Amino acid sequence: MRSWRSSLFRYDNLASLYALYGAVCVQIPVPILADNYGYMIIDRATKQAAVVDPADPRLMEQMLERRKVQLTTILTTHRHHDHAGGNLELKKKFPGVVVVGGKGDNVAGVTKEVSDGDRLSIGETLVQIVETPCHTTGHVVFVVCGRGGAGVSEVAEGVFSGDTLFIGGVGAFFHGSEIDMHKSINQNLSWVPDSALVFCGHEYTVENCRFAEWLEPGNPLVLARSSWAVKRRAMK
Ligand SMILES: [Zn+2]
Repeated sequence: MRSWRSSLFRYDNLASLYALYGAVCVQIPVPILADNYGYMIIDRATKQAAVVDPADPRLMEQMLERRKVQLTTILTTHRHHDHAGGNLELKKKFPGVVVVGGKGDNVAGVTKEVSDGDRLSIGETLVQIVETPCHTTGHVVFVVCGRGGAGVSEVAEGVFSGDTLFIGGVGAFFHGSEIDMHKSINQNLSWVPDSALVFCGHEYTVENCRFAEWLEPGNPLVLARSSWAVKRRAMK
């Protein structure tokens, strides 16, 4: 899995926060609060849309209006307020919207609880659920799968990883151990190909790289990634 940010991202410029990606859908990252990311997934064929972790509901609403798309689904990686905090307001504004959250995670406003292997659709775009318990007990990750014209071939193209996987690091172990996090990432998500892009829940890259430098001083790969992250942050 790789970072979508490496080629497309400028943190402070909404006009450039536009990731054209895959054959079936468009995904738009939206900076929220101090260092969170929400996202919008638009199915090209139907103009139906989902928002991921829409903690700033007004900003999300503006983005939906700007793109002239129909919100059908709220995908919530976990119950924490900086991810699920906009659910109730959006649910009120968009009656009938499906609010998705992991089983037993008590996500605000949830109408559809999901478990590992469950699937749902945003228009013609397929989303597969992967359980990644550790940060919270019911944390889930959403894997967007492209679908071939014949409707048969499916390839995992994007991973909305919430607070499980960041660039250069992983989420806090609030409700699990290092073994749980290892299983969540290296077993539950192991089927996702390296070509898939990772859309994480927070901008922690510089801090994570600094920690990696402390762990492995002199590692040239870590140093290179760290200086890349600092340069990208300076473009803010
Ligand atoms: Zn969290």
